[in-house]
Amino acid sequence: MSKVSLIKGMVSVPIVFVLLAGSSVTNAASEKPMPATSATISANKAFYEQLDFTDKEDFKNAHKGFIAPLNMNPIKNSKGVVVWDSDRYSFIKEDQPASFTVNPSLWRQAQLQNISGLFKVVDGVYQVRGQDLSVLTIVEGKTGLIVLDTLSTIETAKAAMELYFEHRPKNPVSAIVISHSHADHFGGMKGIAQYAENPAKVPIIVPAGFNDEALSENILLGNIMSRRAGYMFGNLLPANERGFVTSGIGPGLSNGTFSYLPPTMEVKDDIQTVEIDGITFKFLLTPDSEAPSEMHYYINDYKTLVVAENTGHTLHNIYTLRGAKTRDTLKWVKALDETVDLFGNEDIDAMVTAHTWPVWGRDNVLEQLESQRDLYKYIHDQTIRLANLGLTPDEIAEKLKLPEKLDKVWANRGYYGTLKHNVKAVYNFYLGYFNGNPSDLDPLPQEESGAKYIEYMGGEKKVIKRAKLDYKKGNIAGWLKY
Ligand SMILES: [Zn+2]
Repeated sequence: MSKVSLIKGMVSVPIVFVLLAGSSVTNAASEKPMPATSATISANKAFYEQLDFTDKEDFKNAHKGFIAPLNMNPIKNSKGVVVWDSDRYSFIKEDQPASFTVNPSLWRQAQLQNISGLFKVVDGVYQVRGQDLSVLTIVEGKTGLIVLDTLSTIETAKAAMELYFEHRPKNPVSAIVISHSHADHFGGMKGIAQYAENPAKVPIIVPAGFNDEALSENILLGNIMSRRAGYMFGNLLPANERGFVTSGIGPGLSNGTFSYLPPTMEVKDDIQTVEIDGITFKFLLTPDSEAPSEMHYYINDYKTLVVAENTGHTLHNIYTLRGAKTRDTLKWVKALDETVDLFGNEDIDAMVTAHTWPVWGRDNVLEQLESQRDLYKYIHDQTIRLANLGLTPDEIAEKLKLPEKLDKVWANRGYYGTLKHNVKAVYNFYLGYFNGNPSDLDPLPQEESGAKYIEYMGGEKKVIKRAKLDYKKGNIAGWLKY
């Protein structure tokens, strides 16, 4: 067992962090989106018939341990600009069924994500949820507070800590533990460190390789990734039933101030036990899974398992659409499998994840871990099987369906990642962007090929007429077929 040492002081690094840069809180009132087409409404109604909406277990868990609501006043940065407004999501009511402008399964997820505030996970472990895209977890140590992940910005992190202090003793922050190298879990570091007795010396514990991974992705490709993230998260859409309802993985992005502090300790061994402020943490490194640098851990004193972002209440992205290196599905599967092996026999009261509400009870925890392990393994293996039969990525994505046992589990459904684009991710990870058809090797760019298609089809008037007919029938996007 090693003790945490205090090595480096506090330095802030001016970096544009990709995940949230370019996000903004938009004013819904000024936008007037069009009503849903009848094709969209009937596709959404069909979804409603497929799933068991009488199952309220997730709602029960999302409310469990509730202590206090969020402060609903908008959070502003030092210039007075609103960076987080919880009221943005107040149109989402828990007792209000989906209007069929929204996929009912996604609406249910938005309702769950909107259950926010300060919660007790178990005695000594607390969470603030709905205050950012991610979740803040506070573990009460022997002398102070050990904060697990910091939200994405200084302002939201501070608001979360203040909410905790309104209801729990105001002890100083004694350590920060960061689960992985994505900005939505460390961008609020300075917002947390300010509550330490000596902010310049607060221990910051991270998984091996964290520093390099956290910085490189953002510096090399920050510009294009921010732009793509805007499309991926729908930042500029108005929040309402015809626009933005949820990010799927969390309520939405914060537009606050990012910060970075150099870690004081990297967990370097595959399995390592560390005492932090009198509390025993058993770490398991899970590199190259959901993030290149990531770790899980079991907090012995509180019988709580933390699994970072490798599981949660949605199918995740094997390839994130903002752009990043495609993830290694087999290593992700291995991370979940090793977690079951290493911690499965422990006395687990609760499992905490990086974005959503916890899971309570050892049996439920193992069921979730095993189900998601099997989910990613299935997507991986079946994509490989069909690729070997000669199918292209698009063909595999159309053909592959999940077995009912995996498909009907709410946590496995695609609110963030989807089955179709994850299939293409697995194909691309092994075989690259080229689908093997020589005619697709060097196509004309879209603008040039588009002009030729229009010309060959008899001109724009004819094409627009046909496109309008297809639009009316809903024959314009893959998802409307399901
Ligand atoms: Zn995250």
